[in-house]
Amino acid sequence: MMNTDFIPYGRQAISEDDIAAVVDVLRSDFLTQGPCVETFEQAVAKKVGAHFAVAANSATSALHLACLALRVTEGDRVWTSPNTFIASANCARYCGAEVDFVDIDPRTYNLCADKLAEKLALAKLNNTLPKVVIPVHFAGQSCDMQAIHQLSQKYGFRIIEDASHAIGATYQQTSVGNCRYSDICVFSFHPVKIITSGEGGMALTNQPQLAKQMRTQAHQGTTKCADELTQAPGDWYYEQHTLGFNYRMTEMQAALGLSQLAKLDDFIAQRHQQFALYAELLRALPITLPYQSNDGRSSLHLYPILLPKSHISARKAVFDALRSANIGTQVHYIPVHTQPYYQALGFAWGDFPIAEDYYHSTLSLPMFVGLTPAQQGYVVAVLQQALAEQGIR
Ligand SMILES: *Cc1c(COP(=O)(O)O)cnc(C)c1O
Repeated sequence: MMNTDFIPYGRQAISEDDIAAVVDVLRSDFLTQGPCVETFEQAVAKKVGAHFAVAANSATSALHLACLALRVTEGDRVWTSPNTFIASANCARYCGAEVDFVDIDPRTYNLCADKLAEKLALAKLNNTLPKVVIPVHFAGQSCDMQAIHQLSQKYGFRIIEDASHAIGATYQQTSVGNCRYSDICVFSFHPVKIITSGEGGMALTNQPQLAKQMRTQAHQGTTKCADELTQAPGDWYYEQHTLGFNYRMTEMQAALGLSQLAKLDDFIAQRHQQFALYAELLRALPITLPYQSNDGRSSLHLYPILLPKSHISARKAVFDALRSANIGTQVHYIPVHTQPYYQALGFAWGDFPIAEDYYHSTLSLPMFVGLTPAQQGYVVAVLQQALAEQGIR
């Protein structure tokens, strides 16, 4: 098959206006702690309909800030999805909490609300209820937040949405990030995500106290708020009240993020066009295409396909065939509980079988702003041939 330039599974889309925005900052007075970060925070909050936004140098940091603001600490339990990037679980470990997982829905690959209900009922009996649950909007499709929120009311846990994949997505007609069904929602601006700031993340909330705590923790645990100081000797004065971190976003990052935010709707629209074209091109192949719930509109961060159950042993060969044809397919995700670090904490293969079955049969096809119809055609042609070579037709 015709060779091609490398096609990654995801990448950033940077245009001249993004470059100009960053250059403007470089010529300005502030490279950090200037006006751009606040402007970016307010723009994201407005875009998704949340009251407060706190920028951070990554979504991982923002998830940590969210756990800290909800007072997650040693002896607490935090539950998340096994089908996610490790950061969704690690944030709770940073606080010394115990992590556990809830298996996924076999259609959406999101944390399953029914499984959550079962696990909560059991945990209540055993007195092991979680303090926080972190649903992850996998591939940009919202979890069943209304159901999860109802369970939080019944069992008394807090909710952090890991929406690293899902800026620009909607759920029940409103934007993911408005925290209608959660305490805090976190976005990532890593270059493979929907919009980028290089590295970067943001935590959204409607609760002023949580916003304040996250901001303080991102700035070394310090405050300059008059109503929080124990004394006021002068304008130079600040106080450290807790052991915080330096999780600040730079002005260059914020300027890039802000410039990208203006294109969010166009980016999502392009991804939906690519989704429609894949659906057409892949129609005849015996693979499972990503299911789209009618509860909302995904931001389509990823395009995961599943090989037929009878042929999951062919996954490596298909993966390798795509890679050798310069197609940067990837696997999202290795179930977090099977990582050696989590196995050392007591987890094992077999603990969350649906996430594991999904993992063994999935591949993500390229999907990013700038991927052309011709490239999609090439990806599908290579895939079709690779499947045929494995007897999948
Ligand atoms: C990318 C990602 C993160 C971490 O984002 P960073 O900005 O790279 O720290 C967390 N959770 C999920 C689900 C992600 O995909």
